[in-house]
Amino acid sequence: MTSGQQLRLYNSLGRRIMDFVPSADVVGMYSCGPTVYHFAHLGNMRAYVFADTLRRALRWKAIPVRQVVNITDVGHAVADSDTGEDKIEMAAAREERSVEEIAAFYTKAFFDDTTALNVLPADVYPRATEYVPDMIEFAARLEELGYTYLLPSGLYFDTSKSPGYGTLALLDLEGQREGARVEQIEGRINKSDFALWRTEEPGVRRVMRWKSPWGWGAPGWHLECSVMSMALLGQHFDIHTGGVDHRELHHVNEIAQSEAYLGDGQPWVRFWVHNEFLLMNNAKIAKSSGPVPRLADLVEAGYHPMAYRLFLLGGHYRSQLDFTTNAVDAAQATLRRLAGRVEALRPLPVAETYDAARALLPPEDKVAAAYLEHLDAAIAADMATPKILAALQESLRDTDISAEGLRVVVAAADALLGLGLAGLEVREVDRRRSAADLDPAEVELIERKIADRTQARMDRNWGRADEIRAELEALGVQVTDTPAGPTWELT
Ligand code: AMP
Ligand code: ZN
Repeated sequence: MTSGQQLRLYNSLGRRIMDFVPSADVVGMYSCGPTVYHFAHLGNMRAYVFADTLRRALRWKAIPVRQVVNITDVGHAVADSDTGEDKIEMAAAREERSVEEIAAFYTKAFFDDTTALNVLPADVYPRATEYVPDMIEFAARLEELGYTYLLPSGLYFDTSKSPGYGTLALLDLEGQREGARVEQIEGRINKSDFALWRTEEPGVRRVMRWKSPWGWGAPGWHLECSVMSMALLGQHFDIHTGGVDHRELHHVNEIAQSEAYLGDGQPWVRFWVHNEFLLMNNAKIAKSSGPVPRLADLVEAGYHPMAYRLFLLGGHYRSQLDFTTNAVDAAQATLRRLAGRVEALRPLPVAETYDAARALLPPEDKVAAAYLEHLDAAIAADMATPKILAALQESLRDTDISAEGLRVVVAAADALLGLGLAGLEVREVDRRRSAADLDPAEVELIERKIADRTQARMDRNWGRADEIRAELEALGVQVTDTPAGPTWELT
């Protein structure tokens, strides 16, 4: 029995919002993790902040969770269908480092980013290279069961033998067979068939290679998630997460091979929960379109990591979100205001679950109680983080709430949002406190905006002038008009 509203989640399997009722005392949750041959970018971080929000929602409902996040340190091939060169090996050659060094370096960078974003650590971070023997066993079992066929390029899973193949993606199999992304593989029976094992081409010796019944080579890229999740969470578990791109191919193939392996006619995983994509200035983030900013770039530019988290949570996880400078500026300004307002309320209590928060409420404060119900309803309704953020801001402005009640509401909202407001100093939010710390480009930008505002005022375009003032405020710049002209300072 959980208290408060029933937690409801959008299940990609079935494409509708469903009651989430755990099937075990401890909910097993698997989140597809990073491939560690490059830095995780801001889009990837959306997937991890989203999975973290789900963990916080489960915690709020006092549902124990065991979360596994895999570290893909076996190189994916360049193409989705597992053909082509190995990406880790390409990175190693490019950076003149060993594959182990590459993997260790980018794994650390991943942890640095998720830690800075307040992502709760998973219980286990299995590395794919540690599970290759299990993957070989898994593929051998599929072979024994008659689900595979062997080609010179590897062992393939025959998707026509998988009843319901592609249900998750609502796959139109005919359409997919014609799909442009699917490249030709000599001898492949169905275009949707995928490699369980990639056998080395004659004359090509990979750096990362393992011996298997199908020759030296490397596992196909869908295999590790099936194998490691079952090894660490049991054969069936409740939740699998990832970005929507995985709903179309990677997760479809994970399901096909896992259900073939288990052969018990049961759905392998009950809830598939996917986050929508982060766009950059309204464009899809494509690996081919040059470097995508990462968290370190934002921090370098003077943003607090929590400003990025706040920006993400300001959108619902199932909506596309457009990353623009204006949007993070606004998030940074909101974060600064929140930190400033919460400073006066410290110390905050610990209110991580609905029941704990309820117990902490001063009994006579009906206003705080209503806010708490509001937070509960928002998180329970498929994790409506924008509503939680709005309720938090509203409670901070509310003059009818008691100080103690407000502390509980803020602590509860913070436990759900993970912004770390309990300890966040305004000074930390804005590292650009003193104009002397600004670099010349930033000063130039500010002065250009001020000049534009002066021009707008001269044109009696008050609307535009106010807009520019708001943009400056979002940058932490306070403009004062004096008889000698405008002056500015950092707030
Ligand atoms: P990858 O390293 O490409 O396997 O991606 C790691 C996670 O980030 C996966 O769950 C992806 O679905 C997710 N992801 C990749 N790009 C984006 C994006 N632009 N927005 C949101 N999630 C993304
Ligand atoms: Zn996966």
